[in-house]
Amino acid sequence: MKVPLLDLKAQYAAVRDEIRAVIEEVCDSQYFILGPNVEAFEEDIAAYCGTPHAVGVSSGTDALIVSLMAYGIGPGDEVITSTFTFFGTAGSIARVGAKPVLVDCCPNSFNIETEHIEAAITEKTKAVLPVDLFGQMADLQTIMEIARERNLVVIEDAAQSIGATHHNMKTGQYAHATVFSFFPSKNLGGFGDGGMIVTDDAELAEKCRALRMHGETKKYHHALIGGNFRLDALQAAILRVKLRYLDRWSAQRRRNAAYYDERFAGTPVVTPEVYDFNESIYNQYTVRIPGGRRDAVQAHLVESGIGCAVYYPIPLHLQECFAYLGGKPGDHPNAEAAAAEVLSLPIYPELNDEQKDAVVAAVLRACG
Ligand SMILES: *Cc1c(COP(=O)(O)O)cnc(C)c1O
Repeated sequence: MKVPLLDLKAQYAAVRDEIRAVIEEVCDSQYFILGPNVEAFEEDIAAYCGTPHAVGVSSGTDALIVSLMAYGIGPGDEVITSTFTFFGTAGSIARVGAKPVLVDCCPNSFNIETEHIEAAITEKTKAVLPVDLFGQMADLQTIMEIARERNLVVIEDAAQSIGATHHNMKTGQYAHATVFSFFPSKNLGGFGDGGMIVTDDAELAEKCRALRMHGETKKYHHALIGGNFRLDALQAAILRVKLRYLDRWSAQRRRNAAYYDERFAGTPVVTPEVYDFNESIYNQYTVRIPGGRRDAVQAHLVESGIGCAVYYPIPLHLQECFAYLGGKPGDHPNAEAAAAEVLSLPIYPELNDEQKDAVVAAVLRACG
């Protein structure tokens, strides 16, 4: 049996009629950039997160860039983030001219290790950019304490974690600014690129709104230099429909994860650890295959028609473009071990038991 890593067609089938209706409305209105659909979607996301402000932008990466710009972070500034994340996290820091300070992750949650944040703070540190990897929030409670003591800004990269909770509070309720991505493979995915910044800071939200429109504060008056970072109406209309299903889909992902957890217990497969005070939305279900066998297991799955992927094979301190930061093998052992052992398995909501059994059987066969 073939099982894809992600089956967006299965999800689309469930919402097809509703989505085609809103697409038609947008087409009839011929209002494509920002406008009423984007405003309504911003209100929906703010309400969903329990935060007062939400600003729609062109992608998750642009949401990071706009947030950094809004805080005036640039050349001469340092921003601390995890070396074990999607490239866009640290790429955005470099893109605004600041220096990404890459630190190691925790071996269990794969999220940034808070002790390493404290050790990396210098007089140039302006912000911490924790990532909620694979759907589980980073230790935002501790990170906010550190930030308060050291007067730092916290921008949370929640591209993989919309709706996840940490000590019963949601993504968007801890950090000074929280960033979402609506890339199609995220739990809340559009039909193209899209992103959002949420914050409880009215002034920051206004600045982000200006920055996404070339810094325009009044028509043809530019108080700031921004860019074109706008969200379009088709994405907003589609995402408004999908947002109504998000919690159901995330719950289904958690049920799938529990199913796998049970079947991999007592095997060489190390299942993902989600702390008691966290609830993951499982953007990925990422296991560890120890003993240098990960690549062989991956090859066997591919051969068996089971979708899987390695997120992420190279920690950012070892990326060619970041050579100027001086990272070398051995600097961040937890991230380097994770990069060699992780394997993400199909976890999408529509998976049935037969498909999950096929995934488990193939993994265990390959593990010998
Ligand atoms: C997807 C992702 C992003 C970037 O989002 P885009 O919408 O693709 O630009 C940033 N950070 C993390 C952790 C992501 O997973």
